[in-house]
Amino acid sequence: MKIRFTMDKITRDGNPVLRAQAQEVPFPLSEEHQQLAKDMMTYLEVSQDEEQNEKYDLRPGVGLAAPQVGESLQMTAILIPSADPAEDSDTPYFKGVIFNPVIVSETVGRAALETGEGCLSVDEDVPGFVPRSKKITVRYQDENGKTQSKTLRNYPAIVFQHEIDHLHGKLYYDHINQQDPWGIDDSTKYV
Ligand SMILES: [Zn+2]
Repeated sequence: MKIRFTMDKITRDGNPVLRAQAQEVPFPLSEEHQQLAKDMMTYLEVSQDEEQNEKYDLRPGVGLAAPQVGESLQMTAILIPSADPAEDSDTPYFKGVIFNPVIVSETVGRAALETGEGCLSVDEDVPGFVPRSKKITVRYQDENGKTQSKTLRNYPAIVFQHEIDHLHGKLYYDHINQQDPWGIDDSTKYV
């Protein structure tokens, strides 16, 4: 597999592209944007494949947003492995590049990953809970420009929110309560 994005190509915290509002992606997709989408997904595929990754030493990721490869565009690749790890299935829970996504509804109830979040663009571990909506409905365009709508809960909902944040100049630690990083209120569930 040919790989365009290696760790040295990933933008890191401090690069202004990560704090910018990304531009909408026009349709039909240009050839350049089609290729970008493919290359972003390749990063995720290789990063999750132990054997292939030995060669490239990528940090494993379930999402990679265009600003993380220096492109201020509203597109992000998402590859969430099968929900049931015991299941001997190669079918991922979600695999796709989403364009111009909008969260059209979200629950008041919150969820946070028990171990906090990480990000390919943040080298330093910033500890603390990242409370997010437990359930969201997201509307986006697929690579053909077709509008899609998807309702997500818990872990996948958190991944989508993390990635969509990247398109609006936000990083996960912005959501951490600096006074009480591991404090959690009653309406927040661990995932
Ligand atoms: Zn990230």
